Amino acid sequence: MEYRFSHRVYRLPFRTPVRTSHGLWAERTGVWVRLEDETGKVGFGEAAPIPWFGTENVEDIDAACRTLGENVTDHLLDAVPTTLGCLKNALNAARAGELSPPEDLAARQVAGLLPAGPGALDAIREKLEVGFRVFKWKVGVGDAADEMGLLDDLCGELPDGAKIRLDANGAWDRRTAERWLARCAERPVEFVEQPVTPEAADLLRGLAEDYPTPLALDESIVRDGDVTRWLSDGWPGYYVIKTALLADPDAVLAALKKASAKVVFSSALETAIGAQATLRHAFAWTGSKHALGFGVWPLYENHILNGPTALPFVRWDEVKALNPEAAWNALS
Ligand code: MG
Repeated sequence: MEYRFSHRVYRLPFRTPVRTSHGLWAERTGVWVRLEDETGKVGFGEAAPIPWFGTENVEDIDAACRTLGENVTDHLLDAVPTTLGCLKNALNAARAGELSPPEDLAARQVAGLLPAGPGALDAIREKLEVGFRVFKWKVGVGDAADEMGLLDDLCGELPDGAKIRLDANGAWDRRTAERWLARCAERPVEFVEQPVTPEAADLLRGLAEDYPTPLALDESIVRDGDVTRWLSDGWPGYYVIKTALLADPDAVLAALKKASAKVVFSSALETAIGAQATLRHAFAWTGSKHALGFGVWPLYENHILNGPTALPFVRWDEVKALNPEAAWNALS
């Protein structure tokens, strides 16, 4: 198949800067791609790299897109190297064709995002009121003893069956991780995400064995091959999957499904174009279901650029209603 190819670098300020372990993140940059085939059918994709995760950066993607030129073939698109995983993802998404409804149309549960620090307490009360029952709280930001005290306050707010996920973004050393995991044991903590850095893989494995609270890999998964490695390693915990970072999400998800892995779909803070692609994967997933890590939108001022807004459930209609073409045109 031959296509007309175009791409656009976008640079969009977040409505509120995002606090990360690498400081404040004020604007999202990425690349949108558009492919029009010989029959006039148009598809869009988004390359949404997170360079401090270890992906390629926007300059690499832009340069590769310029090299591709205006007229491309499947052969040329498939030859984009896997080191440009986010770009491959975008090109695959743009070729994925019409959205077909998933087998299971039930709405998917979404985890409510709580801010780091004491602000989490007001936030959990508000979110409980609108119906959230799974929460994600950023830890490893303040003093560990203070945060552990806050965890008890947060757990005290939870009705029966509700759960909280902790995300340390790799901030803890061994001692801190051990203290936390001992603390979590008797509490309604669904899992602890990335307690230590991806470099400390042996420590991660040891902690997963020594404590009852499950652990989840997030920063440890940057490329398709990372999932393959942890699967063959027999990782017992959860996999936080940002499909936006994977060159071939279909293949990775098939491997995870085959291994009966526990998968938590998660946003890479994409715009509507990437959101539709990643939610499509989340809805197609037929393995065990865990609340989605998509409680992030609205991230951008222009509503046409956002994924479904942070409510306790996301419905297939909302995924279908996202309009990649309108997003593309909004920046022209
Ligand atoms: Mg995380």
